[in-house]
Amino acid sequence: MTARRSGPHVTFTSRDVRAGCFCCHGSEAHWWGPQAQGTAARHHDATGHQTWADVVLSVRYGREEADSRQLDIEAAIAARAP
Ligand SMILES: [Zn+2]
Repeated sequence: MTARRSGPHVTFTSRDVRAGCFCCHGSEAHWWGPQAQGTAARHHDATGHQTWADVVLSVRYGREEADSRQLDIEAAIAARAP
């Protein structure tokens, strides 16, 4: 997970990689983490097996903790609603 400030918001990105070999592991993931995709490629090169890698990129804008000011505004709006 990396945090970087770009403009007024904080951006978190995380990349979840899982990979495997259809021949050796079926559809079950066997390799995880940043090296998984390369490992799947090298395993294919070495064996000729059909390998796979799934990459899930997650992006989050803003801090994880709730913004209490925003909650207060929403509570005020809800309280005023008929
Ligand atoms: Zn294999």
